[in-house]
Amino acid sequence: MEIEIKGIHKSFQGTPALLPTDLTLRQGEFTTLLGPSGCGKTTLLRMIAGLEQPDGGEIYSGGKCIYSKSRRIDVPAHKRHFGMVFQDFALWPHMTVFENVAFGLKAAKVHTGLKEKVTEALAMVQLQGMEGRYPHQLSGGQQQRVAFARAVAIRPSLVLFDEPLSALDAVLREEMRVEMMSLVKDMGLTALYVTHDQVEAMSMSDHIIVMRKGEVLQRGTPEMIYEAPSHPFVASFIGKSNWLEADRVMVRPEQVGWSRSSEHDWRYRATVHHVSYVGERYEIRLLMMDGLDPWTAYSSKRFAVGERVEVYVTPQSICEMHEG
Ligand code: ADP
Ligand code: MG
Repeated sequence: MEIEIKGIHKSFQGTPALLPTDLTLRQGEFTTLLGPSGCGKTTLLRMIAGLEQPDGGEIYSGGKCIYSKSRRIDVPAHKRHFGMVFQDFALWPHMTVFENVAFGLKAAKVHTGLKEKVTEALAMVQLQGMEGRYPHQLSGGQQQRVAFARAVAIRPSLVLFDEPLSALDAVLREEMRVEMMSLVKDMGLTALYVTHDQVEAMSMSDHIIVMRKGEVLQRGTPEMIYEAPSHPFVASFIGKSNWLEADRVMVRPEQVGWSRSSEHDWRYRATVHHVSYVGERYEIRLLMMDGLDPWTAYSSKRFAVGERVEVYVTPQSICEMHEG
């Protein structure tokens, strides 16, 4: 089942929150909307879910139109057969774990085999035996698992995630990231995931859509986005970038070399400004001569702060961007 979004857009009080946007979500693929706060990610997600009214455009689910402004089609949220996981989990505090998950099924008008479906969904997230607990009796990670079970119990044709891990601490966040991604993949779900965290986006996604100010700047695999950013904003927002003389030319830290190489390489003189030991390597912050902004490079050996060094890059390793 494929989800297709065509020209969906939205303004609030005359200010555009999302410019006309197209998006295709293929069956079983994990797509992430990545961008800074306020760029329109939640607005787009809520319009797909049917929780926010677009100003125009169309949405198709499995070839069937579920929203069209011009044709006056607007399938209500509970009939779109989509699941949603929110940042604050949005569990009902007065309902047990069982009732919270059952609520998702009832909202989608599933009444047969309710108990089996709830039990199955809770088993998937390893919460068997917790059916009778209330949300406040669970840890943050467990609450998020309940929210996930509730969203996927109906076997939705699309599951929408709005920054679902941002309320968790760093260690749990990384654990849940792996867990949630494997569940989505094991169940063969189509997912649209919203985050402002580039590490999350890079590690989870089949496709990343980078947004800024209500606009899509680039879309592609994590590798494409990192290795060949098409826009200076994308290059700076994702990973570390070292800018060369022209401010549309950039090289990634792992491409910066320390030893002398062929005459075709480009050499730069620098002073070691800061050294961070990060376990498997040193991260070296360099103050560049010749008026360049500071660079980051990696090294297997420690440098002394203040040391004069020469680094090189190969012309093949640079990224050139054309848009401003
Ligand atoms: P993100 O999820 O990427 O942080 P949002 O989609 O929440 O961004 O918001 C996009 C823009 O739309 C922001 O400028 C925000 O202030 C504005 N916005 C979102 N919802 C509303 C609303 N209900 N009323 C007015 N402005 C809104
Ligand atoms: Mg948001």
